[in-house]
Amino acid sequence: VPRKRLRTRFPRLSQIALWFDLVFIGGTEHFGAAYRFSDIMFLSMSTNWLQTLKDTSAVWKYDPKQMGSHAILTTGVHSDGYINMARITERPDILSEMIAHLIDKARANGVLSNTCSPQWIVGPALGSVAIAYEAARQLDCKAGFTEKYESTMQLRRFFIPTNEPVLVVDDAMSSGSSILKTLTCLHEKNLNALPFVLVLANYSGGASLEVVGKSYQIISLVEFDFEAHRWEPDECPLCKSGSPAFRPKEKWSEFQNLH
Ligand SMILES: [Zn+2]
Repeated sequence: VPRKRLRTRFPRLSQIALWFDLVFIGGTEHFGAAYRFSDIMFLSMSTNWLQTLKDTSAVWKYDPKQMGSHAILTTGVHSDGYINMARITERPDILSEMIAHLIDKARANGVLSNTCSPQWIVGPALGSVAIAYEAARQLDCKAGFTEKYESTMQLRRFFIPTNEPVLVVDDAMSSGSSILKTLTCLHEKNLNALPFVLVLANYSGGASLEVVGKSYQIISLVEFDFEAHRWEPDECPLCKSGSPAFRPKEKWSEFQNLH
């Protein structure tokens, strides 16, 4: 019985973790202890994803010794650090595993459950179209995306009934503006957004977002602070030092990678 329940709660955990639970702890009366062991295994298995981001050249940080380019973010501000999640979404094998572990984490945190599960997954285009699609495939939901319309993000080609729960996902969270605009769009359409957001890489430093008085918990697979700075263009010290600024996804070859 506990094995079945563990599998339900941690469907992606390795057989090894489950067997350790059963062999060394075992018994329904010690189910709580088995739970904790699986949590530890789960956390230890999750710690390699930052290295995966580095190994796929998705992480960039400005190196003063190189005097290279620096980044213009979606919001227009300049930065000395960036994560290019296209290096991940171009790899369906890695993306699928990352999303599976992110879903596991949401289940382990108790936010995603049989009583709190989505019927739709929505992410801001373009970066999160693949994220939403793959998460929807794994959770047996429908997938959609919001897209830029003037200064907002809008659902322009999907009709979502107001009673069907919607889960927002995103590839990476820096300022959180794309997620905020997506949640705002769902709110304006009176849709039923679940109170948490799944993000593959969170380097915003924040653990929640607030939209029209409602709080959304951020569940992320990789959380880290690589001390990226942000400046308004006319106050950017890197521009003043002569470093050229580019939108990173358009000129990724210009950027120095972190390893
Ligand atoms: Zn600059």
